[in-house]
Amino acid sequence: MAPREFIPVNAPLLGGNEKKYLAECIDSGWISSEGPFVSELEARFAARVKRRHAIAVTNGTAALDAAVEALGIGPGDEVILPAFTIISCIGQIIRAGATPVLVDSEPETWNMDVRAIEAKLTSRTRAIMLVHLYGLPVDVAPVLELAARHGLRVLEDAAEMLGQDYRGRPCGGFGDLSTFSLYANKHVTSGEGGLIVTDDDRLAETCRSLRNLCFQPERRFVHERLGWNLRLTNLQAAVALAQLERLDDAIARKRRMGARYARLLRGLPGARLPLPATDYADSVYWVYGIVLDEGRGIDATTAMRRLAEEGVGTRPFFCPMHLQPVLRRRGLFASERYPVAEHLYQQGFYLPSGLALTDAQIDLVAERVWKVLG
Ligand SMILES: *Cc1c(COP(=O)(O)O)cnc(C)c1O
Repeated sequence: MAPREFIPVNAPLLGGNEKKYLAECIDSGWISSEGPFVSELEARFAARVKRRHAIAVTNGTAALDAAVEALGIGPGDEVILPAFTIISCIGQIIRAGATPVLVDSEPETWNMDVRAIEAKLTSRTRAIMLVHLYGLPVDVAPVLELAARHGLRVLEDAAEMLGQDYRGRPCGGFGDLSTFSLYANKHVTSGEGGLIVTDDDRLAETCRSLRNLCFQPERRFVHERLGWNLRLTNLQAAVALAQLERLDDAIARKRRMGARYARLLRGLPGARLPLPATDYADSVYWVYGIVLDEGRGIDATTAMRRLAEEGVGTRPFFCPMHLQPVLRRRGLFASERYPVAEHLYQQGFYLPSGLALTDAQIDLVAERVWKVLG
């Protein structure tokens, strides 16, 4: 019997001008962040998401860190964000001495429940962080309305939503500062990388400065503020630019993959599949998630182990912030409960969803999912 093919949870697709642009870097000697692909990537990226400025940085987490710092969030400030998200969203809020305030998720879209935000507002609330997850955007409009009414800043983590629209406008277009990741499982990748986008000239300037150690133009090695070295290299920007040229293909491909999984897995007992659409967006299926009903008596960990035995790579859903040992040890979120986020964590995981996944592999994954969970 032929050995069973293992299907990894993610494999990127590098099928365009990546090699050509990388060769240009090497032939020209421009490999650092000073090279021309960085500014070209920033210009093209800004145009693509219809923003005035894009600032390339080393990764999506760094983009969030710099965005939080650029808004001047510090001690005494509260920032509202979803409980169900990646740790990247909360790190700088905590390091800056501010207080993270969590909201639960919606069971259907898996995104933050925007109706739960208003009850969390206090006189100390400074900002709301929107995080678009897995395929559908957050319902942005009510959040922008609430933020405007209360004079709050909006941060938007659009790492998973490059190329997706909310009511016809690009995701990444809604925050005072919005951030992206170029990690290997994102729609556009340079292996590692990230971007911050904004329409605000002063915030853009602050982010550029924070990215570059807050060197000053006149007195270079005299610093008025602590920054980081978050500079993306020309090599990475070259790859990212080639990828960005093919973003429309990537999005179309993700949607076809999602539709194929949906067709093949329809009727899977005791499982919730991704919502294909809401009234404000069609899912882009960044990844294809499955949430098992609790009544089934099998949790995500067990399902993932059995799928691994069948040669299917998977990844668990996020562990909510209020359950993170590192945050609880700091006395945060002690008696707080977010039942939907907890359910998603216990019962949710995602299937192979990388852009290099073939139709034949999707068919194989679906067959093995039915074998394990059918
Ligand atoms: C990937 C991701 C990040 C982190 O990006 P890195 O480039 O891996 O640091 C942040 N937020 C969300 C929602 C992500 O999916």
